[in-house]
Amino acid sequence: MRRIQTDIETANWMKPHRVVQRDDLANEWSPELFYLVISRNGTDIDFVRQIFKKGVRNLGWIADHPNLVDGDIIAPTKALSGHPVLYREVDMHHGFQITNRCNSWCLMCSQPPTKSDDQWMIEEVLDTVKAIRKMPNVIGLSGGEPLLEPRGLKEIVNQINLKSSETHIEVLTNGRLLSKPDIEETIFDRKISNVSWLVPLYGHADFLHDYIVQSYGAFEETIKGLLVLQKNCQPIQLRIVLTKPVLENLVPLCHFIGKNLPFVREVAIIGCEPIGFALANRDICELRIEDWSETILSAVNELERHNLTSILMNIPLCLLPRRLWQYAHRSISDWKNSYVDECRGCLERESCSGLFSWHEKGWKPGKLIPIMEEK
Ligand code: SF4
Repeated sequence: MRRIQTDIETANWMKPHRVVQRDDLANEWSPELFYLVISRNGTDIDFVRQIFKKGVRNLGWIADHPNLVDGDIIAPTKALSGHPVLYREVDMHHGFQITNRCNSWCLMCSQPPTKSDDQWMIEEVLDTVKAIRKMPNVIGLSGGEPLLEPRGLKEIVNQINLKSSETHIEVLTNGRLLSKPDIEETIFDRKISNVSWLVPLYGHADFLHDYIVQSYGAFEETIKGLLVLQKNCQPIQLRIVLTKPVLENLVPLCHFIGKNLPFVREVAIIGCEPIGFALANRDICELRIEDWSETILSAVNELERHNLTSILMNIPLCLLPRRLWQYAHRSISDWKNSYVDECRGCLERESCSGLFSWHEKGWKPGKLIPIMEEK
């Protein structure tokens, strides 16, 4: 979560506020939203206080800051760690977490789940969506496991649909709970629009998938969940995060997908994020991708053989054979993306995913070599 350290005055702490330029306030104002007017001096602050005194209670001011842009959505807090930035128009990727809880315990989880009651997160996402000024093309919804809150998830999907019929929603879920008829009913009681489902699958056999997600029975539930999605005509992206046991079985896994799950729209092969549980399970998560490039190539070939589309995410181009560059995406969210000294002068930097900013506390995914030849 990105945070900003700057002064704020508001009567509505913790509520998502849209950041607005003083001159745009009248045009953008709506009684159900909360606003923070960017204030550069005492006159701007007095302007806000005067309006507030007249009974307009849904606004406050925020001191100007180099990282602040109008259209940002911020949840003001009194915590010393700074105010969470919930949304930023200029970002390339947009997403909301709807719970921190999860029913799996993946060995490489980048955001280890918590057990505490966090229903407030659903309210926060609903308020944030309302406050968005310009809806993006794509919004991701994730957790934890979002299907632990099926009603909340459905409400958020409806809210996004209502606000923009152009915005596509990507739900990142382990899919296990879709195997429960009541949850299927909650999600698909009425037609659901503009949603695709991103579902991880780590093995072609139960023992491997269940081991990676540390939950007995998860493979069977996930497969049932995928069949529920198929039955409801939903687009599916399968996701394979690369750890050592998964790479050792990647080609059979892709064969299994091609044979048994040919209805999926695409398969994403994803570099492991060096944070969270991955740091505790370094022995299986820390890899040099270039050592596995032949395996990844064979896996993509296997998917192609079954007419399935491959996507490569979180993997720098210089660690991949050229034949695979066409599948690589700039997939790392803006706020956690970085490039390193080796990237200086690299001709492919604009199309490369780069690294996670926290690679310094973890590891680099291999030996980076700047690309100096044109494609
Ligand atoms: S050197 Fe950096 S920018 Fe170039 S391909 Fe490698 S990671 Fe990407």
